[in-house]
Amino acid sequence: MNSGYEAVIGLEVHVQLQTRSKMFCACRNAADAPPNSYTCPVCLGLPGALPVLNAEAVRMALTLGLAVEAKIQPVSTFYRKQYFYPDLPKGYQITQGPVAIVENGFLDIPGDARVRGKEGKVRIRVERAHLEEDAGKSHHDLDGKSSHVDLNRAGVPLLEIVGAPDLRSAQEASDCLKSLHRLVVGLGICDGNMEEGSFRCDANVSVRRVGEAAYGTRVEVKNLNSFRFVRQALDHEIARHVVLLERGEAVQMETRGWDASLGETRGQRTKEAAMDYRYFPEPDLPPLSINPQEVEAARQALPELPERRIQRWRDAYGLGLDEAQTLAQSPAFAAYFEAVAERSGSGHGAAAWMLGEVSRTLNDGGTGIESFPIAPEAMAELVRLVETRILGFGAAKDQVFPVMLAGGGDAESIVAQKGLAQVSDRRVIQAMVAQVLVANPGPVAQIRAGKESLKGFLVGQVIKAGQGKLDAKLVNEVLSEALAKD
Ligand code: ADP
Ligand code: ZN
Ligand code: MG
Repeated sequence: MNSGYEAVIGLEVHVQLQTRSKMFCACRNAADAPPNSYTCPVCLGLPGALPVLNAEAVRMALTLGLAVEAKIQPVSTFYRKQYFYPDLPKGYQITQGPVAIVENGFLDIPGDARVRGKEGKVRIRVERAHLEEDAGKSHHDLDGKSSHVDLNRAGVPLLEIVGAPDLRSAQEASDCLKSLHRLVVGLGICDGNMEEGSFRCDANVSVRRVGEAAYGTRVEVKNLNSFRFVRQALDHEIARHVVLLERGEAVQMETRGWDASLGETRGQRTKEAAMDYRYFPEPDLPPLSINPQEVEAARQALPELPERRIQRWRDAYGLGLDEAQTLAQSPAFAAYFEAVAERSGSGHGAAAWMLGEVSRTLNDGGTGIESFPIAPEAMAELVRLVETRILGFGAAKDQVFPVMLAGGGDAESIVAQKGLAQVSDRRVIQAMVAQVLVANPGPVAQIRAGKESLKGFLVGQVIKAGQGKLDAKLVNEVLSEALAKD
């Protein structure tokens, strides 16, 4: 970044909680129905309807709070935040007041060495996480003449997580958001779908001169529905602030939206002050009390945290960070991988299949691991056959895996039926290598004269002679031995 300036960023993330029902009524919390199917007097805000707090949403908030080592507040309260919008039938949103259920936690993320001056983790404080309800959705017709309101989402539980202004670059903001995303998905409290808005991020950003203690004027950037947009929008916004400050102009405190097609942020509105919402305590809901037993129960139920799991896999299986992070993408995917790794006895082999053929199949079909047709035990057997070199990888990928996908049996019987077992008898391979060397005196002489690159050609000839059934690794070994002789 332009020397002399430092960016300051704080994230506000809205996490849609995967509860069975909505926040204050028994309507289903799901997006799979025609517009306005999941509504009732409570979420429509009809007169006289009374909200009842969803205990599952409270447990999910506790889970998140404990995972970021926050203080769980014994008593927090609900407030009404009042504004008018067509998708808000009550005319107010129920949210939490000055005290939130979760306060003062933190996330440790990799710092951006370019702005921190050194490698290493940095601690990003989580100021608070509070429970609130979502609004409905407005759909605007393309002709610009009419709009439709769908209230299936009205009253769906949200956990708003407010981060302290501890981030110092767009890269750090994106890394922090990724870490938080892995966390809420790994905890099983959110499906993490950013495009559909289950995980929404607003970023507040300001710029100040290096060494200055006071923060600069901040701008809130909305509409950041991918990690890439977070990076691009913040980099753009930081640069815009620096230009203004260099010109001696002031940054306006406002809300801006990221326009992905133009690649820039655009002003949307000046920021409301909290006072404009006329917040007041929600008279229809008692304060939310959490007793120590509830906190303890949530602590006991806490699953292994994604960052820990990633580290454990790296230690146990020697996986790279990116690989382990991708494998930890969802609790179901992680569990599947773990089952394959354990049963096949090869974490590395299991990882390669999960990140390769399995992911490709899921992507092509647009489905999740939950509906993957091959059971982890069966997948493990395939991995084991390849790892023990009974089956070549090519044959496994092209001739066995597709048959298993189509429900055509287990790996061992497919290998037997199709006669795919590899030849890994050293003497058989030695004999074939000897034949190939005799038949190719030219290349052999060139290799011995130092042209190592021709070795692949000879390997290919041997494999071809073996009709693709030779253990390629062994062929390489035997060929090198033979070439090294006399
Ligand atoms: P609001 O009431 O407008 O939501 P908050 O005090 O809750 O304001 O802060 C919202 C977010 O803005 C937080 O994530 C916080 O970290 C961030 N933030 C506050 N001040 C600054 C600043 N000067 N620069 C960048 N981010 C900031
Ligand atoms: Zn309802
Ligand atoms: Mg806020």
